Amino acid sequence: MAPNGNSEERSRISANWNRLNDQIAATTTRIGRVPETIKIVTVGKTFPVAILKAAMEVGIRVFGENRVQEAAPKIEFFRNIPDIEWHMIGHLQTNKAKKAAELFNVIQSVDSVRLAQLLSTEGGRLGRTIPVFIEINTSGESAKSGMAPDALFPALDEIAVLPNIAVSGLMTVGPLTDDVGQIRHAFRQLKKLYDRAREQSYPNCHFERLSMGMSGDFEIAIEEGSTMIRVGRAIFGERGAA
Ligand SMILES: *Cc1c(COP(=O)(O)O)cnc(C)c1O
Repeated sequence: MAPNGNSEERSRISANWNRLNDQIAATTTRIGRVPETIKIVTVGKTFPVAILKAAMEVGIRVFGENRVQEAAPKIEFFRNIPDIEWHMIGHLQTNKAKKAAELFNVIQSVDSVRLAQLLSTEGGRLGRTIPVFIEINTSGESAKSGMAPDALFPALDEIAVLPNIAVSGLMTVGPLTDDVGQIRHAFRQLKKLYDRAREQSYPNCHFERLSMGMSGDFEIAIEEGSTMIRVGRAIFGERGAA
């Protein structure tokens, strides 16, 4: 790893990171929350290890990837760097559950009981309890993954008893639209589900985080109760533009 080859990238990412944190501070302050309640998952999909390394040098520690195949060599590359947290945020096929369990600290995209069962089996094999989020399709867009909102509670009845995963929260991807009302509606729906789920005392469920909001809609998400945003472009710039 060249120590100084990416100082330009570092200062660009650093400026973006500071701006993002300022925006989060402004939004949380406006609604009477503190910025520390928001965890940022930095989404590095499509960006090479050199860019991720620059982000790490800026102090970023929590990363999201959406494809197992792309993430594997990246995670491998950084395996000796302590305290890096990797989140799987993209659709996870059941045949990749084993690999994902080996690679990622957290799986945010659990969208079926079957996948949860497989991850629990892998967790047992690896001797760990895997923190997972249940992904909900709040937009109704058929191209989006995630469980239908009304499938959550029946699924939780089965998922909560699995020994080697721990449900840490809910996740959604907001609708792809400029209609703020529609985006807000989706996030509000997830917050309601989250509050309801927290009221039940499911075993193996902690519901510590509500993962919603990306570069284009994180401020709306925070206003609607998000405690975890997944941000790529606002930190790294447009994908495919480098
Ligand atoms: C790509 C992606 C993000 C980040 O999107 P940006 O617009 O780059 O901030 C967040 N969540 C998921 C599931 C993604 O696939």
